[in-house]
Amino acid sequence: GYRKGGYHAARPGDRFADGRFVAQRKLGWGNFSTVWLAYDTLLSRFVALKIQKSARDYAQAALHEIELLSAAAKGDPTNTKCVLQLLDQFKHAGPNGQHVCLVTELLGDSLLRLIRYNRNKGIGLTRVREICRSVLVGLDYLHRELGVIHTDLKPENVLLVSTINPSKDPARAGFAPILDKPEGNQYNGAAISFSEKMLRMRARRAVVKISRRRESLGGVMVDLERKRSLDGVSMKCKIVDFGNACWADQQSAGEIQTRQYRAPEVIIGSGYSYSADMWSFACLVFELATGDMLFSPRDCQGCSEDEDHLALMMETLGKMPKKIASSGTRSKDYFNRYGDLKRIRRLKFWPLERVLVEKYNFPAPDANGFANFLRPILDFAPESRPTAAECLKHAWLN
Ligand code: ATP
Ligand code: MG
Ligand code: MG
Repeated sequence: GYRKGGYHAARPGDRFADGRFVAQRKLGWGNFSTVWLAYDTLLSRFVALKIQKSARDYAQAALHEIELLSAAAKGDPTNTKCVLQLLDQFKHAGPNGQHVCLVTELLGDSLLRLIRYNRNKGIGLTRVREICRSVLVGLDYLHRELGVIHTDLKPENVLLVSTINPSKDPARAGFAPILDKPEGNQYNGAAISFSEKMLRMRARRAVVKISRRRESLGGVMVDLERKRSLDGVSMKCKIVDFGNACWADQQSAGEIQTRQYRAPEVIIGSGYSYSADMWSFACLVFELATGDMLFSPRDCQGCSEDEDHLALMMETLGKMPKKIASSGTRSKDYFNRYGDLKRIRRLKFWPLERVLVEKYNFPAPDANGFANFLRPILDFAPESRPTAAECLKHAWLN
């Protein structure tokens, strides 16, 4: 990735935007960018700096993300609508090209990290409710006020707001900003890619051992490691990563969403809307509560991942109505004319509420309440799913 058109190789102490922002350490990365903790010397606070890959398509994607995030920021001057707040943007010229950079508020750990921190045992329904409220406030804002479909809602794209937000009070956060390049830190091309490899290996190990590790990750501890328990960790969170988001009236054709969070209408090709985000939301909430993905389809002998995915959905939610099954451009690839799957003939039905009791040992009343909340969102008919605003009024959350 660190080549012409690719990532920018930043190092602690590097300055951006005429010296205003100073890179501290890498917070994360994705297919499009690396994200750094940075210090804003003008406003004396920590921020997150997303440095996009430089090739034209990536730059364009970043500009699109900026367009959506700007609209979101404009409609939320008090920053209470649970969507990542964009603070600034600029271009940075480096050896690999021009990189579009987004400056955003600094957030904490992702829900993926939270799930792993709990060793995939679920985080408890009280916390699940708390997170549901935030995510639903964010989705309601995107859908109803902005007309935006996120299209990639999943645990790694929802970040906790930390109680010890260093952007508010660096002194209390227990660390001072790096303002200069650390001495004796000689990098050449080879050294960069080597240290990059080390960082990745460390990060991978950190994820596995996260609940046991106590030392810091490259200088600044992440919230969960700092706390060592969930007590006092605010469960407020925000939706991030608008790289794939779209205006509902300008959607691109084709596949959206990450596999496990993909709605049935996307798989069969019958068009999608805001309700596709609601499907992903339900999958995410199940995962928070149980530590397991709701659907994790695989290739099987003679059947595709798509068909396995549809089979898993039907085993948990009942048979897809024939009218819906036959409504997509790809329906004929998966279903015969009776509305049955072509290659997977025997389904083992195991309804959601029973799964919660029998597999995850939920007490019956908990399983019942939780299933009552989730089940309507997992309707095969997209237009029958409750909206985010309707979910916020559900008894389970109140
Ligand atoms: P993808 O391949 O998923 O599209 P991307 O290149 O668009 O990734 P993001 O998903 O926006 O990048 O960010 C990558 C990671 O960086 C996140 O998963 C998260 O761990 C971290 N991160 C992003 N924004 C912030 C922020 N504001 N505060 C703290 N960490 C952040
Ligand atoms: Mg992402
Ligand atoms: Mg992205």
